[in-house]
Amino acid sequence: MNFEEKRKKLVNNLKNRDYPVLTKPEVIRAMLKVPRHVFVPKDAESSAYIDSPLSIGSGQTISAPHMNAMMCEYLKLEVGDKVLEVGTGSGYHAALCAELVAPKNSTNPGHVYTIERHEDLVKKAKVNLKETGYDNRVTVILGDGSLGYPEEAPYDKILVTAASPKKIPPPLRKQLKDGGILCIPAGSKGFGQDLYIIKKHGEDYNTKRITGVRFVPLIGKYGFES
Ligand code: SAM
Repeated sequence: MNFEEKRKKLVNNLKNRDYPVLTKPEVIRAMLKVPRHVFVPKDAESSAYIDSPLSIGSGQTISAPHMNAMMCEYLKLEVGDKVLEVGTGSGYHAALCAELVAPKNSTNPGHVYTIERHEDLVKKAKVNLKETGYDNRVTVILGDGSLGYPEEAPYDKILVTAASPKKIPPPLRKQLKDGGILCIPAGSKGFGQDLYIIKKHGEDYNTKRITGVRFVPLIGKYGFES
């Protein structure tokens, strides 16, 4: 089976899960389009279309595909959205978001800003995004994403792909547009966390718990200590 066939099989499996993780046509299209095998290390290429997290170096992981799909669905990403991702890792999730907010030939393209604390991952993600043609729709920044990225705020959508402490970093809430959505895992540093969807309504925030999850920790000023 070639990579495209493996990708189709993975997407079909995700669509047919008992617990809905992949239902929206536009998210299905993005998952079919973005080549996950380019974003994983060469020696892990053959496992790229297994629904599992994989090591990407610097002690970090690329999340399991069902988690990427779920987060994209809950964020309700739309063409034209300005998105902030905290935790670039390989750049794969940022590419998925770009496929949703800035599909090719769109007349009203959005943009994805993604921030990562490990310099070597920033370098690799830039290479991966260039190789797959997303480099003009995704800006990769080196820094502490627990501070958000005020330079481009406010954002329509913010996703955090590392586990925050229970207290959600205040800058992330603040950098949402009115009506904006934040998707963030929060809880303990080493064990399980919960995935939350937080919607901003004026000065109010509506928080909904989605499910239990397990992410690497968010390290930074408003995250955990390293
Ligand atoms: N979204 C990534 C992908 O598609 O490959 C996977 C992200 S991985 C689960 C979490 C990432 O968050 C790691 O690369 C880690 O270095 C990064 N991270 C942790 N704390 C951070 C912080 N304060 N600012 C930016 N990145 C951070």
